[in-house]
Amino acid sequence: MRVNARDRVTAIYEQVRARNAGEPEFHQAAAEVFESLQVVLERRPEYAESGLLERLFEPERQIIFRVPWVDDDGHVHVNRGFRVQYNSALGPYKGGLRFHPSVNLGIVKFLGFEQIFKNSLTGLPIGGGKGGSDFDPKGRTDAEVMRFCQSFMTELHRHLGEYTDVPAGDIGVGGREIGYLFGQYKRLTNVYESGVLTGKGLTWGGSQVRREATGYGVAYFVAEMAKAVGRDLDGTTAVVSGSGNVAIYAIEKIAQLGGTVVACSDSAGYIVDEKGIDLDLVKEIKEQRRGRISEYADVVSHARFVSGGSVWEVPCDVALPCATQNELDEDAARALVKGGVRVVAEGANMPTTPEAIKVLREAKVAFAPGKAANAGGVATSALEMQQNASRDSWSFEYTDERLAGIMAGIHERTVATAEEYGLPGDYVHGANIAGFVKVADAMNALGVI
Ligand code: NDP
Repeated sequence: MRVNARDRVTAIYEQVRARNAGEPEFHQAAAEVFESLQVVLERRPEYAESGLLERLFEPERQIIFRVPWVDDDGHVHVNRGFRVQYNSALGPYKGGLRFHPSVNLGIVKFLGFEQIFKNSLTGLPIGGGKGGSDFDPKGRTDAEVMRFCQSFMTELHRHLGEYTDVPAGDIGVGGREIGYLFGQYKRLTNVYESGVLTGKGLTWGGSQVRREATGYGVAYFVAEMAKAVGRDLDGTTAVVSGSGNVAIYAIEKIAQLGGTVVACSDSAGYIVDEKGIDLDLVKEIKEQRRGRISEYADVVSHARFVSGGSVWEVPCDVALPCATQNELDEDAARALVKGGVRVVAEGANMPTTPEAIKVLREAKVAFAPGKAANAGGVATSALEMQQNASRDSWSFEYTDERLAGIMAGIHERTVATAEEYGLPGDYVHGANIAGFVKVADAMNALGVI
């Protein structure tokens, strides 16, 4: 008896859930991809052969390690470090490191899994991985962060390499942390291996536009979505969650493209500035002082800070969740629809819950998943690797142009794939399927490994 695609996919999904018990974020990310795979397998049943799906959902390697470090008062702390090397069919593992108290294996696994498809979608030769630690850099001195990073890299360095695994930043890991990590890698290996980490400083192997890339990329993607329906971003009102790396540069590029961002947030609440967010002030507060977004309303008299509320209650045309996973739930989606939202594009990884996506779909809101919309960061990391390998250094303008071209390419592939599979306008299925097919073809070519 021939097993149909739906039964086959359901059976494998149940296996994945049972084998990865207690990892709800990973189950959520896997469920979304499984849904798209049903559509693919109905047409291309060969992708279910040779245990391809079973292999795809199982990471190639998962590393968990102890990270002991000493604080400024001489107290010893022990954190846990992770690196999930998920899939290297297309190139070396590539994906960020997250330092946040909520980090656990399930979170790292969901992020690594998403990264496989995102990286594939960029069209660049990079595999998928992710890592991090439950270390909280908030409130720690530079010296403490340095000692933590040195201890973290003391274990991790043996698993990395320009052609093996190339981490970057993510939540809690910015230029400062990448510097300490790279310094320790160099010290342990005695090799100036620029290509082993991305997000480096401009004077020691970094790329122009890497810092801006994820946020800029999201804005470019939204501009492509608007272009597809014959519009542009001039006069658009936008709301952005978070005020970290992705949020700041999404705000910057949306403004450059003619939009006005009227609200942004951090984990304590959100600010509203109807005249448009003063980004220089946000950068000063968040990038220079590592302060709280509430300080914005202390300086700008016409702005207001709402403690603990949902930023999605602020009416807008475009909503960009750029903080963290599952931050935009069903109620938030309803509030956005009520406020007239037309486009939601994910700057963060999986910030929108499945229930919220359903609400947006029903309201005919165009929805771009992070896999497609926030791929500009990793794409520019790959451009950084390319510059490191050729000992070259490109201008800001040229790199930015490459980024814009890559985002347009991702948009085109996503839309074309959705259409090919009879789902026009469905960015979720389009991104999942386009990302999957390329990885699956490579895995098939490389044999059962
Ligand atoms: P940052 O650490 O620079 O900023 C994170 C922002 O999100 C901060 O404003 C933070 O507020 C807020 N935040 C974090 N956790 C929560 C929470 N539980 N509730 C509300 N707000 C929260 O991280 P990035 O900007 O680098 O990353 C943001 C998202 O984008 C993540 O999902 C990341 O995986 C994704 N991403 C990042 C890329 C990059 O290149 N950096 C690439 C692709 C995706 P607070 O300071 O109060 O914690």
